[in-house]
Amino acid sequence: MCGIFGIYQRGGDNTAAELTALGLFALQHRGQESVGIAVSDGEQVRIHKAMGLVSSLLHQDIAARLPGHVGIGHVRYSTHGSSDLANAQPLLAVTGSGPVAMAHNGNLTNTRPLRENLFGQGTAFYTTTDSELILHLIAAQAAKPLEEAVQKAVAGLSGSFSLVIMNERKLIGLRDAHGNRPLLLGKAEDSFILASESCAIAALNAEVVREIEPGEMVVVEGSRVTSRRILSHPRRAFCIFEYIYLARPDSELAQVSMHEVRKRIGGELAREHPIEADIVIPVPNSAKSAALGYAEVAGIAFEIGLVTNDYVGRTFISPTQSLRQLGVQIKLNAIPQVLAGKRVILVDDSLVRGTTSKKAIAMLRKAGAREVHLAIAAPPFLYPCYYGIDVPETDQLIASNRTLSEIRELIGADSLHHISLEGLYKAVGAERSTMCDACFSGEFFTPVDEEDPWNFTGGRKEANGDYAGSNRL
Ligand code: SF4
Repeated sequence: MCGIFGIYQRGGDNTAAELTALGLFALQHRGQESVGIAVSDGEQVRIHKAMGLVSSLLHQDIAARLPGHVGIGHVRYSTHGSSDLANAQPLLAVTGSGPVAMAHNGNLTNTRPLRENLFGQGTAFYTTTDSELILHLIAAQAAKPLEEAVQKAVAGLSGSFSLVIMNERKLIGLRDAHGNRPLLLGKAEDSFILASESCAIAALNAEVVREIEPGEMVVVEGSRVTSRRILSHPRRAFCIFEYIYLARPDSELAQVSMHEVRKRIGGELAREHPIEADIVIPVPNSAKSAALGYAEVAGIAFEIGLVTNDYVGRTFISPTQSLRQLGVQIKLNAIPQVLAGKRVILVDDSLVRGTTSKKAIAMLRKAGAREVHLAIAAPPFLYPCYYGIDVPETDQLIASNRTLSEIRELIGADSLHHISLEGLYKAVGAERSTMCDACFSGEFFTPVDEEDPWNFTGGRKEANGDYAGSNRL
């Protein structure tokens, strides 16, 4: 759950830092824990990082701190490594042939042998992220031109990685051989752009050129963009959860509009699970498109019954259980005038721990809803994600080891329904052989190291299961 961005300006402007910040604003939904930007003026690479939202950079005069025409940026939601400034990205290293900065979206699945190998060579680590491994592997090839060093470094990686990398003169973007995380190439009048989602390219008034292909590396230098296939694997595995929840509704990935696909998922959910009710409401804000699709196909009125306060951050809602409870209420509230006496279909994009749904359902009942039926635009989450999405461990997943009716009872719904995996693929319109759906099916596309999957230092970080921000799995 990270967002990455890169820009190369050709027209003599030196505003890469400001444009990167704008791109990162558009990617804020992919990570809210920390933000960072690295910029080169052709001679020197400078970096600035901060905890919190992209807006925290605005108070720090990044234009003066980071002059230059080549830039990369990152918004982070941690999966490997704890949430602190040392682990914020981009990561910057001074190698034998100069500085290299890198930002990573995804998770590696072979960190243990890579780490042991590097430790064996005397490498010291300065962060607890899997991403630093990649930077050390690049640095080890510093005698080569940057693109060759990167090609050599990523050849031994397994798992999920979309990367933006830069030195003083070049900008590089690449995706792993499975294409698990997105990365697109965009173009404005005088610049080339790399971004996790098309909404970040649109934010700069630029156009999407195309998606970076699985295993492809693009190199931008001067007015030239060159491309080469550096990794190959017969199995594509684009994350299907990007369609369900992760990507912004106004983004287009794999030529598919996220809003449109979510409406189709909601429509398919309505066909699979018709429910007698008076109104359909979304869990705000991520389930809006799916709820709209459900309402259209079911012929039931779409309504807004729950409202979020988007200004409440994650950090406010952490110290104690009672404060967390208050935080949920400040974050999410019901509209009694809409709900009183109504039979409600509540649509959510996914059901992970179930804590949010339980609270939302209780809130709807308190506001007067007569019945509350929960319809989920994803199959049950049964497995953790090893590829960079913060799905909790199996024992924290509400669907593991519980029947549907046990879950329904636990969350207090009158009925509970999930779209089937077949229905999901029908709505998405993709071949299953090109996608990853391992958190639903358990069919991981790489070997995974269950003993060392979560944290570079060992020991999984505790995630907050309450309704506390858009990344609230
Ligand atoms: S396991 Fe689930 S969340 Fe993780 S990459 Fe696969 S589909 Fe996406």
